[in-house]
Amino acid sequence: MAQGLRLVLIGPPGAGKGTQAQLLREHVDLAHISSGDLFRHHLRQGTPLGLRAKEYMNRGELVPDEVTIDIILGKVMSIPDDDGFILDGFPRNRNQAQELDKKLTAESRNLDKVVHIDVSEPALLRRLGGRYICRACQSPHAIGLGEDASARTCDQCGGELYQRDDDAPAAVKKRIQVYNDETMPVLGFYRKRGVLVEVPGDDTIAEVNKQIMAAVDVPTARKL
Ligand SMILES: [Zn+2]
Repeated sequence: MAQGLRLVLIGPPGAGKGTQAQLLREHVDLAHISSGDLFRHHLRQGTPLGLRAKEYMNRGELVPDEVTIDIILGKVMSIPDDDGFILDGFPRNRNQAQELDKKLTAESRNLDKVVHIDVSEPALLRRLGGRYICRACQSPHAIGLGEDASARTCDQCGGELYQRDDDAPAAVKKRIQVYNDETMPVLGFYRKRGVLVEVPGDDTIAEVNKQIMAAVDVPTARKL
């Protein structure tokens, strides 16, 4: 019953999609398809698609949708029919959603649920703005508002903490803006298809996980 679920997680940067996908996998047997991880894998391995993406990146251009779509859909369609998957970080815009839909519909493998993790903008700014990474071991740390990051070192190894350019305040605002402009319209697309479920995402990781499991109808008591 829980087997073979086909899910998409949509949420703004900082919503904890990757974390929630991992938690869900403790309860349901699903392949986790993280678009970011998959992208990095293709770049690292220098696959034909990875090389195509790199050409654009080297020129400082955005990787076109068709390349992203080929990378993600290649993986999605490689998953056996009866197996479930959870997509995180894709689709990011309406075009990607339509392409995914076309492919899945052609094989009668429609999505079961699209979970929208809805996080308020102040909560996102707090979370992302407070995200620091250890220079030595890369482990992430949360620095509270008003806390002096330079006074802290890594909990794991004592290394120096730094903030990625991506997580600097202006960059964070920009990422949220892009999400609002490009990804939010995808929600309407799935709402019309009757597969969209809304989960409030300002709560703790554990609470959001509980809500997601209820939304996709996974029993919490039984672990696989
Ligand atoms: Zn460290």
